[in-house]
Amino acid sequence: MKESDMIDHRRLGRELELFASDPLAGAGLPIWLPAGAAARHAVEEYVRDLERRAGYRHVYSPPLGRRELFELSGHLGYFADDMFPPMRLSADDEFVLRPALCPHHALVYRARGRSYRELPLRVGELGGMYRAERSGVLGGLARVRAISLNDAHNFCALEQVGDEVHEILRLIREAHAALGIRPAGFRLSLRGPGEKYVGDDAQWARAEELLREALDGVDFTEGPGEAAFYGPKIDIQIVDAAGRESTISTIQLDFDKPERFDLSYTAADGSRKRPVMVHRSLVGSMERLFAYLIEVHAGAFPAWYAPVQLVLLPIDDGQADAAVELCRRAEAAGLRAEVDLTGSLGARIRDAARRKVPYVGVMGPREAADGSVSLRLRDGRGLDPMPVADALGLIGRVVAARSAGLLPPA
Ligand SMILES: [Zn+2]
Repeated sequence: MKESDMIDHRRLGRELELFASDPLAGAGLPIWLPAGAAARHAVEEYVRDLERRAGYRHVYSPPLGRRELFELSGHLGYFADDMFPPMRLSADDEFVLRPALCPHHALVYRARGRSYRELPLRVGELGGMYRAERSGVLGGLARVRAISLNDAHNFCALEQVGDEVHEILRLIREAHAALGIRPAGFRLSLRGPGEKYVGDDAQWARAEELLREALDGVDFTEGPGEAAFYGPKIDIQIVDAAGRESTISTIQLDFDKPERFDLSYTAADGSRKRPVMVHRSLVGSMERLFAYLIEVHAGAFPAWYAPVQLVLLPIDDGQADAAVELCRRAEAAGLRAEVDLTGSLGARIRDAARRKVPYVGVMGPREAADGSVSLRLRDGRGLDPMPVADALGLIGRVVAARSAGLLPPA
């Protein structure tokens, strides 16, 4: 397949004005333009809501912190090659752009004493982090230096880990179905040879056993050497248009950070116990997720996260007021809508198709007079004129159901 024939998220991202890269801002530091930001916002809202309903509690924490925090977490000892160098403000004050959110979430856990009744404690955040990727590997959204991660850390008792991992796998499947992600496979990522791993053999063996149990009945491959430095993980793989495999969702077991941060809880018998930390991401980073979604949908996102869901086209100036009024009603109903007034009707229809807008509402003199609109769907189907309230209801039902199709589910 020629490069030019491929569905490339960088080309589509430019054509659809989803994101931009500027050498002045720096390689691997893309800027999300309004259309891309609107789609991302819809996805972020969905994921946050899914997590909230599943018992997650969201926090905000800063993308940089003192050097000592990342010494304690082990990142500076085991992961420094992937981090930007520390920034020195004064002799005893150095700051680090964080390469992960876990250290801050460990501090959330230990902000006060914890009881077994609070576990599993699920701390979620869609937060910024940074990786010092070499400039040669950067491209579009797939590999970036500034990462916005859908992340959470679930602190649980050892005997809760199995159920917790099962529930995370269920949430991952639900999120994938809504977004239209087609995973290429599951990988159990294990320790490889070498000195780059923390923790003792017994911890690694126990964590691996728990993940194998959770994968019972699931087809998976094993990835020696693909574990995090602190523990084994389940990685859910995707394949991009060029056939490259990468990880999108992940579940990692960590016995090490709870030790380093001296995390504990009071058990039912009054004794102090150490929780297990489960690092998990349902949909990965917003950057890698959208690199994939742009390609897999060829830019034509499901209506619920399409940047613009409805474009209204008056046939001539006589229907402009009616189109603007319907646009206001659509926005008041929570839809992302626009009116396009300039150019011939044919050119405006072609432009909406180029932008992959799921619904085009055409309004001629008859529609304007009787308060109706003719909907054209992105796939080429045209619907008979219908009252504007019915049209908004139809689109609203598709969006609310997060349907992959353009007509409401039967
Ligand atoms: Zn983590």
